[in-house]
Amino acid sequence: MWRSIGFVALNILTVLGRDVSEVLKERKNLLETEMSMMLGRDIILSDSEIKANEIIMNLKYEVIDNGCRDPGVFNLSKHFFEYKEEIKKTTLYKIIKAMPKGAVLHAHDTALLDADYILELTYLPDLYVCFQEEYPLFLFSEDKPRSTCDTRWQLLKEARYSSGNVEKFDAELRKHFTIEVDNPKAVYSNINTVWNKFQQVFIITEPLFSYKPVWEKYFYDSLKKFREDNVMYIEIRSVLPQLYDLEGNIYDIKDTAVSYKNVLDQFKKDYPDFFGAKLIYAPLKFVNDISEYIKTAKELKNMLPTFFAGFDLVGQEDTMVPLKKYMRELVEAEKDLDFFLHAGETNWYGTDSDENIADAIVLNTKRIGHAFALTKHPLLLKEVKKRNIAIEVNVISNNVLKLVDDVRNHPLATFLAIDAPVVISCDDPGLWGAEPLTHDFYVAFVGVASKHADLRVLKKLALNSLYYSTIYDKDKLVHEFDIRWTKFIDSIVRDVNASS
Ligand SMILES: [Zn+2]
Repeated sequence: MWRSIGFVALNILTVLGRDVSEVLKERKNLLETEMSMMLGRDIILSDSEIKANEIIMNLKYEVIDNGCRDPGVFNLSKHFFEYKEEIKKTTLYKIIKAMPKGAVLHAHDTALLDADYILELTYLPDLYVCFQEEYPLFLFSEDKPRSTCDTRWQLLKEARYSSGNVEKFDAELRKHFTIEVDNPKAVYSNINTVWNKFQQVFIITEPLFSYKPVWEKYFYDSLKKFREDNVMYIEIRSVLPQLYDLEGNIYDIKDTAVSYKNVLDQFKKDYPDFFGAKLIYAPLKFVNDISEYIKTAKELKNMLPTFFAGFDLVGQEDTMVPLKKYMRELVEAEKDLDFFLHAGETNWYGTDSDENIADAIVLNTKRIGHAFALTKHPLLLKEVKKRNIAIEVNVISNNVLKLVDDVRNHPLATFLAIDAPVVISCDDPGLWGAEPLTHDFYVAFVGVASKHADLRVLKKLALNSLYYSTIYDKDKLVHEFDIRWTKFIDSIVRDVNASS
């Protein structure tokens, strides 16, 4: 007892004995040293950038300060569906939309465009539908399809106009093309419920997208939408389904990749300022043996050497086959293929899904998809930094797919604080009605990064996406980025001068 009182007294004396200014200096040093470790520390802002930064930071402070005073008004701590439209009206969102954001390095090809776009596709001719209890089947066909259907196949056009209420019919149909709902917290009570719906959208839309003319149109329109969102280049993941046409021809999956390349070539002709796209072959990890996938990947690489970027495996990590089960095949393929593996997209710790991160690292993955669980592994995090493996962070995806309810708790905050090799991406923006990349950048910048994280962080994240891409001529890309960035900065400063 007497000993502890003595100890407290000694501590009080020690504090009293210190000069407050010294303590404050130590505090300042600590925080400044930590700030100097943050991503973007190596960026030196020009005079114009300093002015633009002041404008951007004042807008950011306003959102955060209001949120601190009244957490109820801080949108970004809520579910994405609750605020995604509202933030679009803000000046800061509009600035980030206009910002050159570099490359998208983590996006799945059939989840890029939103439900409205898919609904429009259902107005195309020759589309049949079969309404079943759980979800509808679709098929483009010259004649009534003969494939199994629990009820009956009918032309979608006829079903729509005989429904008596086209608006209601379309609203019901649209629900199958999105995971968006009015009350997500009640509907999606756990990760499996939301993943079931998420996977169902892919299953329902597959026959719509794998109709060859739609496949090509969808990819073209996706590139257009990403370009409009100030994305210069994209590396797209695909399971590469077999395509079909009206005559009933079924194409080889290598033809699917070739059709992408043809669309890309056309797109680049139409929009020469777009830098291009590459393909990451990413089939589902539910099979026991991936040797067929590996064989296909190698063939794709030989066939399309400038278009093919590498290999990945996708699916809900907690329930699907862990990477370690495929170790033998992956080690063997390592000399021929670059890996861009999804890993650690989980809230569990010490499970196979969590430890997929270790597998990805030892397999020399070039980048890791998500790595959401990485901050629980100090050694692996250190390795990721040392080996310069980029972490593809998709904040909104992690929110809607139930890894994090409040993005202020997202591990990206730590990645940014220690200058880990991070890129911001969007995963499946069409499925939750997000804009290609602006929503993710906005949420990362305002909702996750430190209040102090400024224009340097935004610029560095965009530059990282170019640096960690597999594009051959990076210098040219960075040079073009610099030109666009300068224009962007000048426009912010000019707009403010004009309105003041
Ligand atoms: Zn993904």
